[in-house]
Amino acid sequence: MISVSGVRGVVGDGLRPEVALHFAQAYGSEFGPGRIVVGRDSRVTGEMIKYAVWSGLTSVGCDVVDIGMAPTPTTALVTERKENSGGIIITASHNPKEWNALKLLAPDGLFLNSDQGARIRERVEKQEYDYSSWDQVGRIKPFETAIEDHIKAVANLELVHVAQIRRRQFKIVVDCCNGAGGTILPQLFEYLGCNVIFLNLEPSGYFPRSPEPIPENLTELCDAVTKHGAHLGIAVDPDVDRLALVDENGKTMGEEYTLSLATAFVLSKKSGAVVVNASTSQVIDDIARQHNAAVHRTAVGEIHVAAKARDINAVMAGEGNGGVIYPDLHYGRDAMAGIALILQYLAEAQSRISSLHQRLPQYTMIKDKITLPFTVNARAIVKKLIEMHKNDHIDLTDGLKILHDKAWVHIRASNTEPIIRIIAEATSREQTHQLIENLRIEANQLV
Ligand code: MG
Repeated sequence: MISVSGVRGVVGDGLRPEVALHFAQAYGSEFGPGRIVVGRDSRVTGEMIKYAVWSGLTSVGCDVVDIGMAPTPTTALVTERKENSGGIIITASHNPKEWNALKLLAPDGLFLNSDQGARIRERVEKQEYDYSSWDQVGRIKPFETAIEDHIKAVANLELVHVAQIRRRQFKIVVDCCNGAGGTILPQLFEYLGCNVIFLNLEPSGYFPRSPEPIPENLTELCDAVTKHGAHLGIAVDPDVDRLALVDENGKTMGEEYTLSLATAFVLSKKSGAVVVNASTSQVIDDIARQHNAAVHRTAVGEIHVAAKARDINAVMAGEGNGGVIYPDLHYGRDAMAGIALILQYLAEAQSRISSLHQRLPQYTMIKDKITLPFTVNARAIVKKLIEMHKNDHIDLTDGLKILHDKAWVHIRASNTEPIIRIIAEATSREQTHQLIENLRIEANQLV
């Protein structure tokens, strides 16, 4: 499956090395010649894909900056350095272990925008590659300090006071799901003086559970937090750009509250705007209102949020699924930045994480979907729904979002699959459920 940000598939059934080779040749031809950073998560197939990517990039005259196994935000940070011309990340993020993918970065370290993505796709379709002569092919250049540099950058953030965090000697249980978190989190937490019990630390790529850090996948973490009497539980996805929290009672907070807590902390310190996607919790609006901050909403997708945050110089940004973007560090979802902000918040507030959570407005969000037959056009259905609701209070940033008092429902066609996503949020579970059901019935009548 090809999308704006790259190509993904099941290895052995679609994602073959020649696919990675072609995309790397196209990418290197478009952004090269120069130094292209290549990082990967812990997937079993990562090494196989890596050599295809290396081969493709060097064949069109690019040098490969090899940072080895690393989180997605770490690769992005190295990519944005002046001496580098681009970056490719080999990861399928929160997808199951048999999947892999190429996530393509622009030279500035953000993901490709739609024009850049279209140019890469066009090159692949036309096989338009700028092959080098034998004496101009690229070299592989190891780069050893990516992880260390990332930790230093987090520790040097203006709002993060390492000594203050260290004094609290937080006891934390951390679930890495055998992903790339294992390459950075032990050093990060050691630096922050935390006493950490790790679950699934080995970056083996054999994920012991479904790797998306959503509440139903975090039961082992919840149990361990209670068993060890920890202050906090933390889960990250395999490429460490999403972060989920469990409170000291072993209860998951729901991934929406990661960004909400980080935003509450940042807005208490800095004034400025916040950028989130159309599906992110209205807790963000409530927090922003308290601080007189503007909230800008974009279409779903990290690049939309990141680009808007950079354009308007936002102080905070992100996606409600646990994707914290802290612009002071960079314009990418970064669990390390999220961890540092949350620990600083805890250290300063001198209260439990559950109390910080309970201080925020509480809503119920339900995320649902309708799977369509391949012959049905999801976008056409959403278009008809927009027409049907044109007299309601609606927002058309991405698909259709119907706004009510303290409640909303958002319906959009998936960019990658033949499904329609329906997400709703309200003050009660009954109302949230009702909002979803009403729209589901309408959509089904149009199929
Ligand atoms: Mg991810």
